[in-house]
Amino acid sequence: MLKLKLILSMLDNPEKFLKIFLIAIAVLALFINLFIVTPTMFWKHVPMGKSQAEYDYYLKGAEQIQEETGIAVNWQYIMAIDAVILDHNFRKASQERAYSYKPYFIREEIITVEKTCTNDKGEEYDCSYTETVYHLRPFDETLQMLVDDRHIKPDQIQDVMDKVQYVIEVTDGKVKFVGGPDEDGESGDGIGEFQPVTGTMGWPTENHITRITSPFGWRTHPITGVKKLHRGMDIGTPMNTNVYAALDGEITKAGWDSSGGGNTVIIRHADGMVTKYMHLNSFVIRSGSVKAGQLIAKSGNTGGSTGPHLHFGVEINGEPVDPMMYYR
Ligand SMILES: [Zn+2]
Repeated sequence: MLKLKLILSMLDNPEKFLKIFLIAIAVLALFINLFIVTPTMFWKHVPMGKSQAEYDYYLKGAEQIQEETGIAVNWQYIMAIDAVILDHNFRKASQERAYSYKPYFIREEIITVEKTCTNDKGEEYDCSYTETVYHLRPFDETLQMLVDDRHIKPDQIQDVMDKVQYVIEVTDGKVKFVGGPDEDGESGDGIGEFQPVTGTMGWPTENHITRITSPFGWRTHPITGVKKLHRGMDIGTPMNTNVYAALDGEITKAGWDSSGGGNTVIIRHADGMVTKYMHLNSFVIRSGSVKAGQLIAKSGNTGGSTGPHLHFGVEINGEPVDPMMYYR
C-alpha cells in the first residue's frame, strides 16, 4: 500500500521522480566504478601516487642515492617495490623510505688504490689508500635480496615487474602518466613521448626521436598468455635514422642476429656493460673502438620486426637492465 502511494505521489510530482531516478543512476555508476572498474584497471597494475608529493618522495630518494654514489637508480623501480609492499598506500611513504632501498640497488666495493709517494727527503713510502666504488645491481638481484630479507614474498616479484612496465613521463620534475605496455608485442603504436634528461648515456638515435613504442620489461602475449622479457626498449624511428653509440666502447659484433634481432651492432663498454642496437638497415662502422655519440649505423626494419624501429638494449654482466634508467 505504502509503495503504491509513493509511486503515485512520484507520478504526481515529476520533479521528485526525476531526482530519485538520477540518484539511483549515480549510485549504480558509483557501484560499478568502485567494484568493477577500479580494482582491475587502477589498483591492480599501476603504481600511481595520488599527488605530486607522493611521486616526489621517489624522485628525490633516487636523486639522493645518485648524489651519493653517482649512480642513476630508476625512481619508478623503487616506487613499484613500495607499491607492492605498502599495497598502494603511499601515505606511509617518505623520501627517507625511498632512500632506504639504496643497498638493494647499489653494491659497494672497497678497493685499495696502490700508491707510492715521496717525502721531502726524497724517500719513497707507501701511501696506498682505500676508496668505495659503487655498482648498480641487476634488478632481479635487487628483487631477490628483498625476498631474502622478507620485504616481499617470492610471488610478488611478478607484481613489481608488472608495475615497472608502465611509462610515466617526468617533465621539469612533474609527473604525467602516459600509458601501459604495448599489448601486441614488438612494434605497436605510441606508448609515450618523453624528453631524455640528464642521463649518464647518450641517446642512441637523433635527439628529437623519443617515441617509445615498447618499453623494457615483462610482457604477456595477449593470446598465448606467455610471459616474455623484452630485453630492451623500442624507439619508433623512420627508416635510415642515425644510430649512435651510447657510450665509448669496442664493437664486438656488427652483423646478422638470427634470433630475431636482424642487423645488429653490439658494443662492449667498461664495467661489464654492453649495449645492443637491433633491426638496423645498414652499418656505418663494423669493428674497432667507438666514441659516445659516434654514428654507427642506420635504423631499419630487419629481423623479427613489423615496423621500422630501433631496439636498444643495455646489459650489465649479461643481465638486461632497463635502458630508461639512464635517461631520466
Ligand atoms: Zn625490442
